[in-house]
Amino acid sequence: MNEKYPFVNPPLPYEYDGMEPYIDTQTMRLHHNRHLQAYVDRLNDILSKYPQYQPLSLEQLLISIDSMPPEIQTDIRYNAGGVYNHIFYFMNLQNPSSKALPFPLQSYLDSTFHNYETFQQLFTEAALSMFGSGYAWLVINALGNPQIITTANQDTPLAMNMFPLLNIDVWEHAYYLKHFNRRADYIKDWLSVINWDRVNQIFLDFSKRYLL
Ligand code: MN
Repeated sequence: MNEKYPFVNPPLPYEYDGMEPYIDTQTMRLHHNRHLQAYVDRLNDILSKYPQYQPLSLEQLLISIDSMPPEIQTDIRYNAGGVYNHIFYFMNLQNPSSKALPFPLQSYLDSTFHNYETFQQLFTEAALSMFGSGYAWLVINALGNPQIITTANQDTPLAMNMFPLLNIDVWEHAYYLKHFNRRADYIKDWLSVINWDRVNQIFLDFSKRYLL
């Protein structure tokens, strides 16, 4: 994501009904058009008063928070994170999903999780364990290994020196209209619409850059 201020809400690479029947059209529309748009607008509003940060990309903003004036740190963390996390989430989705995990991502994940079933189970447990609002992530940790983590609110793995590969938004607005309070059903449906080709591409780009 190399975009800079003023940030725009990128159009989805599929229609709002593209994730049916797993994620419903109205949820996708509100989530993209209202929730993500609000984060974009608030981030632009803050940055309009701090021109020194306008040349920074989202990633650069997120890893620079500690050096910013204290009065904007919380707002930048929340809103730049909200933009980053949501774009990451929407770009992860694909329907139908690929039939099998692509290489070399599959061997990379199997080295830690042994097989896809175990990965799914551990990822589901992590996403269920997140109390309140946040995300579950598959990341590359500082040792170069795959790891499943959760982040609260709009915190990002970037700020924790971890490199994201995949995330699920478990804020209630991501599923409440269709799945009500049954987060487990939403996670199960989400597992059916993961864009593994994109995750594999992110992994390949990372591997080339850091010679994993
Ligand atoms: Mn969301």
